[in-house]
Amino acid sequence: MILRRVVLLLWCSIAAVVWAQQPSEMKPVTDRLAASVYTGPSMATLRELTDTFGGRLTGAPAYQRSAEWAAAKFRNYGIQNVRLEPFTIPAGWQRGSASGALVSPLPRPLNVASLGWSPSTPAGGVQGAVVVVSDVSAEKLKDTEPFRGKIVVLDSSKIFAEGWTKALPKLDAAWPVFQKAGVLAAVMTDREKNNVLNAHDMLWGAKMLPLPGAEIGMEDGKLIQRLLEQGPVTIQIVLDNKTAGETQVNNVVAEIRGSERPEEWILIGAHLDSWDFGTGAQDNGAGTASVLEVARAMMTLGKAPRRSVRFALWGGEEQGLLGSYAYTLAHKEELSKCVAVLNTDNGAGHPKGWKVEGRKDLKDAMQPWSDALLKDLSGGELSMETTYDTDHGPFLLQGVPALDLWVDMSKYFEIHHKSSDTIDKVDTLDFKAGTALVAVTAYAIAQSDKPIAPHIDHAAVGEILKEAKLDELLAYVGVWKP
Ligand SMILES: [Zn+2]
Repeated sequence: MILRRVVLLLWCSIAAVVWAQQPSEMKPVTDRLAASVYTGPSMATLRELTDTFGGRLTGAPAYQRSAEWAAAKFRNYGIQNVRLEPFTIPAGWQRGSASGALVSPLPRPLNVASLGWSPSTPAGGVQGAVVVVSDVSAEKLKDTEPFRGKIVVLDSSKIFAEGWTKALPKLDAAWPVFQKAGVLAAVMTDREKNNVLNAHDMLWGAKMLPLPGAEIGMEDGKLIQRLLEQGPVTIQIVLDNKTAGETQVNNVVAEIRGSERPEEWILIGAHLDSWDFGTGAQDNGAGTASVLEVARAMMTLGKAPRRSVRFALWGGEEQGLLGSYAYTLAHKEELSKCVAVLNTDNGAGHPKGWKVEGRKDLKDAMQPWSDALLKDLSGGELSMETTYDTDHGPFLLQGVPALDLWVDMSKYFEIHHKSSDTIDKVDTLDFKAGTALVAVTAYAIAQSDKPIAPHIDHAAVGEILKEAKLDELLAYVGVWKP
């Protein structure tokens, strides 16, 4: 009896060896892929993208031009199936000029920028007495009389002290209250020292603010608060932005048809849009150039992997992962055939490996591939961290195995959403190492005998979101129904 079982087990493991393509058998191909990436033109691609189009704000002409450019790149690599897939956002917005000044008691200029999706001020700007608001809970805003005809300065250090996810719903509710009270403009202090400004908006989903909204430097905000301790403070804010109604935005999607199981697909994605202070080099020109480069390198292999490989460049990420979310809705019927999603959007730092977004089974399934193929590429680590901060998120909600490229981010926030996010901060070798990691992982998953891991059901996704304390926020913004 025991003997028979041993024989049976032995037979099974031999059969498995014969049936499955081992990582070692894939290695010659993945080595070629990695070499192609290391010697390939990805830095030139990134430079072309960032220095030609600049910031690529969702829905703005620069975004659309960069989408057409990316589609042409895919076609130049020999990919036939390339599409622009549209979705709509509630409002289009382009930044114009912004200025502001302390008028009294100490006349001096302020470091000012428009909040994203803010309307313009009336011509000539608004000027008024300042009221500081440090708590935007409904309770504190019940009496609106103190705000009437004033400029509200929002003290971000206090408002966000309880965390972004808790503050967001309260802030959302505060804007209509300010509007009703006849507030001239609301001004958010930045939370970074040296009066550095970080580009951002306030409302999820590319919606217009109901009244002019600006940001000012941290030290400007502190000065205003000190002066207020001594008496009234008057400031002036002038914003001139271009706005539009409902606006069409295009995702760019290209596909290499699989050679054996074309109906099954993996998706490699990154967002093409960026904020507009810098030229979006690491957020997320680097991810965009990586996706293009993996497509180029894969086409040089001469034979497609077994499964189809889709390449997606998303719009609307910075306004709430809008392009990737729209894609999961538009392609809902075929998502069951999506074997995995690989996303890259954490900057071009030295790679570490992959974040498996809370899935232990996915981590276990990835481990042999990490050990055999990714460790040598300086990307063998796996992190259980779960986030909804970039475009793997909407796929995670659908139960699709979703991986987010994990890189060293110790320098990332020096440039993130700032005017300094330009290509001169990108380390060529680190960037190429991350891109090689994406290429090799994508090939291994597209080529492997079995799907990397199963889809998980709604309840299992809910558990992961709960564990990561994301469930309430995602329900609030309307992308998750518990
Ligand atoms: Zn990003």
